Amino acid sequence: MNLHDLQALDRAHHLHPFTDFKALGEEGSRIITRAEGVYIHDSEGNGILDGMAGLWCVNLGYGREELVAAATRQLRELPYYNNFFKTTHPPAVRLAEKLCQLAPEHVNHVFFTGSGSEANDTVLRMVRRYWALKGKPEKQWIISRENAYHGSTVAGMSLGGMAPMHAQGGPLVPGISHVRQPYWFGEGRDQSPKAFGRACAAAIEARILELGEDNVAAFIAEPVQGAGGAIMPPASYWPAVKEVLAKYDMLLVVDEVICGFGRLGEWFGSQYYDLEPDLMPIAKGLSSGYLPIGGVLLGDRVAETLIEEGGEFFHGFTYSGHPACAAVALKNLEIMQAEGVVERVRDDLGPYLAERWGELTEHPLVGEARSLGLMGALELVADKASGRRFDKRLAAGNLCRDLCFASGLVMRSVGDTMIIAPPLVITREQIDELVALARRALDETATRLA
Ligand code: PLP
Repeated sequence: MNLHDLQALDRAHHLHPFTDFKALGEEGSRIITRAEGVYIHDSEGNGILDGMAGLWCVNLGYGREELVAAATRQLRELPYYNNFFKTTHPPAVRLAEKLCQLAPEHVNHVFFTGSGSEANDTVLRMVRRYWALKGKPEKQWIISRENAYHGSTVAGMSLGGMAPMHAQGGPLVPGISHVRQPYWFGEGRDQSPKAFGRACAAAIEARILELGEDNVAAFIAEPVQGAGGAIMPPASYWPAVKEVLAKYDMLLVVDEVICGFGRLGEWFGSQYYDLEPDLMPIAKGLSSGYLPIGGVLLGDRVAETLIEEGGEFFHGFTYSGHPACAAVALKNLEIMQAEGVVERVRDDLGPYLAERWGELTEHPLVGEARSLGLMGALELVADKASGRRFDKRLAAGNLCRDLCFASGLVMRSVGDTMIIAPPLVITREQIDELVALARRALDETATRLA
């Protein structure tokens, strides 16, 4: 079947996620047919450096035969069985053990799901169940942040703070309140980063007091906001948030769906920021995206309560801990350990990306270039001196993204913030290539907008 036939069928029958269906119908989709290492290939034979690791998930890169073999072996032996009603299977048990070895010390249990969204649905139910069991059912409010992304199910998008999603999907799950995000470049440049980070933490405390401290159940956040725009909070933010949370009796949920599994140069983003979460939703890099799997890691405080005092928890998914997905995830983690992938991000690739990516700060279109581990962002500006943004109608970010794709690099745009999160197995030479392609796209964008 040729490209045009596929595009026509796609147009006729396939509604894509996060897509303007009508516009896609007019433009036709780019069809990705195969991938190897850090490159994807489209149906016209173009090789494209995947600067987004798929959707922040293909941490080990494409074409890993060991993962294919793990899936095949498991599909032959036991393609499916569930973990409901006191049964289980070896891959789920062994993956649970491995995850608890890698997680912070106070984390010793995991509940499996099929995705990150399901993990956050599970979080919502666990948080409320925990407080009910503690005899404090009035503790219902969960504080999240504006522009946070925690998934696309109703609970996930309610926990998230994405205004366009909220505008389409109401009414939202009640009992979720959003505070300002620690996005210094976007919202805090009238203050120093340090003062702004503290002000964002103070906003959490103010909201706790507004809602009534006896009514607040938890705070949920990503260590670094991914989909919101690769937003690394000012250094003052997390220490100040920790101080606030320590004053009140509430749980900390750290969404590790993107930051987990090496993205920031630690196994978990919580370790980078020295956080002690009660619940950690995980997915994506857990299996390097080869098969869908997610979960919630539980700190002892919550796990012990749910186990000792909870009785049956009426919650679970057909594919919770699916055997083939669990086998692939386990092999993925084993390879990451054996190859020292996380250490290489921390000690070599992360600092190297910071150096090379940082050079883009000099570009006339770039107001800020920031990175942490293997996650980076560029803020596009119309005027470098004042940091003035482009008129939204110009859609500068989308233009840059499209030019980038055409010249052989996947870079995502969130408004006028350009984002990268390449596979963790990228080499220094490929980082050079990525930066050169990004620079070229910036040049072309500048020409088009001139
Ligand atoms: N949480 C975060 C931080 C995410 O970035 C995502 C997906 O991008 C999710 C949750 C939802 O995960 P999934 O798409 O697997 O449902």
